[in-house]
Amino acid sequence: MRHFPAFLDLQGRQVLVLGSGEVAERKAAPLAAAGASIRRADRFAPGLLDGVALAVGADADDDDLRALSAAAQARGIPVNIVDQPALCSFIMPAIVDRDPVTIAISTGGAAPVLARMLRQKIEAVLPPALGALAALAGRMSAAVRRALPDLGARRRFLERVLAGAPADLALAGRTEEAETAFARALHDAEVTPTGFVHLVGAGPGAADLLTLRALRLLGEADVIVHDRLVSDAVLDMARRDAARIFVGKARANHCVPQNEINALLVGLARQGKRVVRLKGGDPFVFGRGGEEAAALAEAGIAHEVVPGVTAALACAAQSGIPLTHRDAARAVTFVTGHTRDGRLDLDFAGLARPGQTLAVYMGITTLRDLEVGLVRAGLDASTPAAIIENGGTPAMRVLAGTLASVARDGRGWSRGGPALVLVGEVVGQATPARRPVSAPVAA
Ligand code: SAH
Repeated sequence: MRHFPAFLDLQGRQVLVLGSGEVAERKAAPLAAAGASIRRADRFAPGLLDGVALAVGADADDDDLRALSAAAQARGIPVNIVDQPALCSFIMPAIVDRDPVTIAISTGGAAPVLARMLRQKIEAVLPPALGALAALAGRMSAAVRRALPDLGARRRFLERVLAGAPADLALAGRTEEAETAFARALHDAEVTPTGFVHLVGAGPGAADLLTLRALRLLGEADVIVHDRLVSDAVLDMARRDAARIFVGKARANHCVPQNEINALLVGLARQGKRVVRLKGGDPFVFGRGGEEAAALAEAGIAHEVVPGVTAALACAAQSGIPLTHRDAARAVTFVTGHTRDGRLDLDFAGLARPGQTLAVYMGITTLRDLEVGLVRAGLDASTPAAIIENGGTPAMRVLAGTLASVARDGRGWSRGGPALVLVGEVVGQATPARRPVSAPVAA
């Protein structure tokens, strides 16, 4: 290791920034953000270094930059001249700022671009509210010391609490509840672990359509409870040693009844587990996430809902069909074609009104009834329509036509994958999107 990382306290200290261009501005900003008062100058004079804790040079005359470097080093003041490693006694790292958590990345000056790329990757995996969690631990640290004088006990407690419900609450921005949960855990002599259930939308199937939050939770879960619709690509993103429980439901042959799933989630949380309940698409769109959330609330289990890309959005995006369009649709309606008793009981008069798009979930087996109902209510059988199977995945297939043709051919065309029916003038506006074979390398 050529450079030793350290974090400087610059509160109220003077920092010299020599130069006045854009680069100098960019270097001055984080120094000021760390509380330094910035002394600016365009030309170097030795007196500028009096009382200075740190010196930075950029966008200034070359001789001045060299003089600054020599004078600062002679006086033992750390100095950085941008893009001139030979004149530097310290390096300005790429910074990930989740105050009070700070991550500094350096490549020893060898590849600043690589450092910035690493910073982006780290930014993406760290929860935005990580700072709030660290601040919570900081606020509680005196109380923790008092309650748990033994170092090992304290460490075990903190490890549990910083990976448990108080942390989840803090990361969700629920500061007061987080503090209460933290204090409760501390006051509990046995510190019985409390679980947490995340109802997480897994999106349409492609792993890179997961949200960053879903990805993080999959990496931290003790148990993953998943449906038939959740793809292997998504499950592959989970922590290797997380237990997996399949509660898949195929239409009309429910493997595990909903009340048993609810009881399972409550039971796992009571064992202190961090549970990720993964649901295809979004948990609150035809996913019965509302019922599970209600059951958890009633049992007093801490939980949160993480949205996912619902099938209608994924299918529309990948097939190039806009769901709304200034000329063709001012509303979009999500409806289900699922029936309890085999009769499609929808408000056809409302659905047949012009100027809207219908996205029909679970609509393949009742396609003919949908057509009959809509046409009776006044919609033209020649209205553009499409069926999109496995939308949002590389296996997507599209059957495009009219309401009449799609209703006639849809069941025979289907290969049994999840499929969405879109009806409306927007289907005629499709501009099939093409993804580049390989993404261009970032500049
Ligand atoms: N919560 C899910 C919907 C569950 S209901 C969501 O938000 O997407 C199941 C229905 O969703 C399926 O019958 C099908 O109509 C639709 N669906 C789910 N995934 C799909 C996909 N990848 N492509 C097309 N339709 C899909």
